[in-house]
Order: sequence, then C-alpha cells, then structure tokens
Amino acid sequence: MEKSSEKLSMEALVSFAKRRGFVYQASEIYGGVAGMYDFGPYGSELKNNLKRAWWQSVVNKRTDVVGLDSAIIQHPRVWEASGHTERFADPMVDCRACKHRFRADKVVDIDSTDQAELIEGLKHTNCPNCGKNDWTEPRSFNLLVETSLGSIEGEKQISYLRGETCQGIYTNFANVIDTTRVKVPFGIAQIGKAFRNEITPSDWLFRQREFEQMEMQMFVHPDDAEKVFESWKAERMAWQQAIFGSDAVRFREHGPNERAHYAKAAFDIEYNYPFGFKEMEGIHNRGDWDLSRHSKYSGRDLSYFDEARQQRFIPWVIETSVGVDRLFMATLHHAYDEEEVNGETRTVLRFRKDLAPVKVAILPLSKKPELSKLATEVFGTVSGDYYAEYDETQSIGRRYRRQDEIGTPYCVTVDFESLEDGAVTVRERDTMKQERIKIDELKQYLSDQLKG
Ligand code: ATP
Repeated sequence: MEKSSEKLSMEALVSFAKRRGFVYQASEIYGGVAGMYDFGPYGSELKNNLKRAWWQSVVNKRTDVVGLDSAIIQHPRVWEASGHTERFADPMVDCRACKHRFRADKVVDIDSTDQAELIEGLKHTNCPNCGKNDWTEPRSFNLLVETSLGSIEGEKQISYLRGETCQGIYTNFANVIDTTRVKVPFGIAQIGKAFRNEITPSDWLFRQREFEQMEMQMFVHPDDAEKVFESWKAERMAWQQAIFGSDAVRFREHGPNERAHYAKAAFDIEYNYPFGFKEMEGIHNRGDWDLSRHSKYSGRDLSYFDEARQQRFIPWVIETSVGVDRLFMATLHHAYDEEEVNGETRTVLRFRKDLAPVKVAILPLSKKPELSKLATEVFGTVSGDYYAEYDETQSIGRRYRRQDEIGTPYCVTVDFESLEDGAVTVRERDTMKQERIKIDELKQYLSDQLKG
C-alpha cells in the first residue's frame, strides 16, 4: 500500500473548500443529498478553467479532433447497445448485522469483480460499520439512473440519464463524418454531466452520483489502434504532469478481471489523493465494440471506407476519459500549501496561473474617495480580460492573505503615491515580491506574466 499524501487530510480539504467558496453540499439547507455537490463562486471558475485547459489541449490545438455537445438523455436503445442495461453494474453486498450496504470490491479492497475472489475476500473482511462478519452474497447492482419522459400516465417512457458521455459521440459518428471534413483517424471530444447510481457515494467529489466527464474518442484503423493508444497515453500523462509534476501522478494497468466489458486494454492515470493513489483518468482501447454494437442495434451501417487503403472496416476506438470532479479535487489538494511568514502561518493555493479562479485583485490602500476612484479605473482596465476582484475592506495584510487563500496570482495595490506617479504595486502570490508598474503598462504586464 502506497503512503497517501500527508499534505492535507480529507476533512481539512472539504472544510477549506467550503469556507473559501469552492464547493458546497448540494441542497444543504434541506440536509443535503448523498453524492451531490454544488460548486461555489471560486469552484465554478476553477472548474471552467480546467475544462478550458483540457479543451484547448485536446480539441483546439489539434487538427484531428473536433468537439461535440450531445443530449444527456438518448434513446433507451443506446444503453442496450452499449451494454449498460445488461452489464454496467457493481457488486453490492449487505451486512446482515447492521443492514449497511457496500460495494464488495471496495470493502475487500481488490481490483477485481470476480465473484469467487470477492466471496473469499469477504470471509476475511469485517463490516467497516459494525465490525461483524455476516455478509450476504455479492449481487450485481446496475448503475444506470432511470428517469421517465412524457406527461401522460401509463404512456411514460423509461429513459436513462447517461452513465458516460461517450455514447453520444458514437451515435454521432456518421453525422460528423457526413457533415465535416474529418477522415479516419480522427477524434470527437465532449465535456458533460454523467450520472451513476453509485452504491456508496464517498470520498467527497471522488465518487458522486452526478459528475462531469471530459472524454475524447479517437476512431482508428484496427492496425493503428495500439500505436494511437500509446501516443494518447503519453499525451495525457504529459498534460497531467504539467499540472501535478511527476510524483503525484502515475499509470496503473487494469488486470483482466477488472477491465470494463468493452476494453481490450486499459490504463488509469492515478493521483495521490489524501486516501492514496486512485483513478483520475482512464485510457482505453475499446476495439470495435462501440460502432459494431450501434450498427447492429440501430440498423445503420457505421463502417467506414478508407480511400487511401481502399478498404471498408469498422473503426476501433481509443478513448481518454477524465472526471472533471476528480481532477478538480486533485488540483485543489495539490495547490494547497502552508508556510511560516514572519511568525504567522500563510495559507496559499499555488494554482498554475491559468487555472487560478481569480487572476488579479485590485486593492486600494484605503477607502479614501480619490483612491477608490483611481482603483476603480484600474479595475476597469483589466476586468474585461480576466476574472478580477475589487476589495477595499480591512487591512491590506488581511486582503493579501484572503487572495493567497483562493490562489490569486497577482494583487495590485493602489496607494497615495499612485495619484502622483501613475503607478501601482503588483505583488506576486508565490514569492510575495512586489514591483512598481505604470498603470498604462499594467494590462500588458499581467498578460505577459499570466502567459508565463
Ligand atoms: P471507478 O472504478 O472509480 O468506479 P470507473 O473505472 O468506473 O471508476 P470510468 O467509467 O472509466 O470510471 O469513468 C471515467 C472517469 O470518470 C473516471 O476516471 C473518473 O475520473 C470519472 N468518474 C467515474 N465515476 C465517477 C464518480 N462516481 N464520481 C466522480 N467521477 C467519476
């Protein structure tokens, strides 16, 4: 068992995230809903910045991937074709003594859903709730979240909230080929909500019932599948390391009893959460499972004719799938730091600058009208380009600390000298170094710094 990160406990992370306006329990005033969270003012900014960084890297910077935004509710047959109605299930086990319900592979702590292995493991594992060893047999529990459409009783149609975003990509494969200029190999990427009736939502944002995914499906000739799989593995790891460095993330290969029903090969990128290394992203070689199944169930031929090869085939799919919420949690955890400054503890979120929710804070030294007026003008010059905050309450030291705690890279102080020399003091978050910058040059200065 790897040592989990000692930086910050889960409890401390969750309460910090709430205190600083990042994440709240959903429906908190009604007592909350298990497995659901709301993102506050800074949390929604951070989430958007993570999504933008992913989209830029996976779609905008490439010539071979296009974007999509498909509906959450698709035709129910989609989920039959995908195998979800039949096989999208986790092993569930009940404690007869205290009636608590668990996911069997998580209680036993093995990376397998093999029934015999689970039963054997349960023999040696006591209930985490009551400590007894009186388990039911593990039973399969389907994770699809059902809903119904229509307004007439008796004619309502059972539908499903999507369990993964990628099915909307497969069902649009032919549309994208027919209406754009893409040619195999090419990818389709999508960001959106997914829903799973997780048996035990747990570990805060890590296992929720409603969450968000960023998925990219690359359609390739079967002969190219392995090469493309390896190149996406390297590409995605480099992207993650650019946020987390190389110690906090690692690959883990799925064992044969662990792989999803469609996967020919599967690697996770794991992050070292407060509870140890766990999956943040999955990279899968899905073979021809998806397009074959949708061809069969829809009756629409989804094979592809490759002009260069003069060959017709069902493309294979290489998938990369990262959970926004697990990425968010890792980003917040990784950024959190405490240090001693002049005998006091300074809490600072060392976000990569493009990910920081607030990029710049404009802070007039006092509430004197002439300073407020100039500071408001300075705010106006930068606020259109970046998420900027204006704050003139409390002492300047406390305001710096508040911005450090939400990870704002630059604080701009407008003081009495500014009225004379047309310059402001810019303080950098990590080094706390201060520089005097002309107001006329501030916009360019921040743009250069934030790019770096
Ligand atoms: P796990 O084994 O942890 O249940 P999974 O292998 O079922 O996850 P995938 O189906 O590969 O997950 O989904 C892709 C990504 O979606 C995961 O890497 C993860 O980041 C995210 N994800 C999956 N389930 C959840 C969930 N319940 N809450 C938050 N994020 C999730």
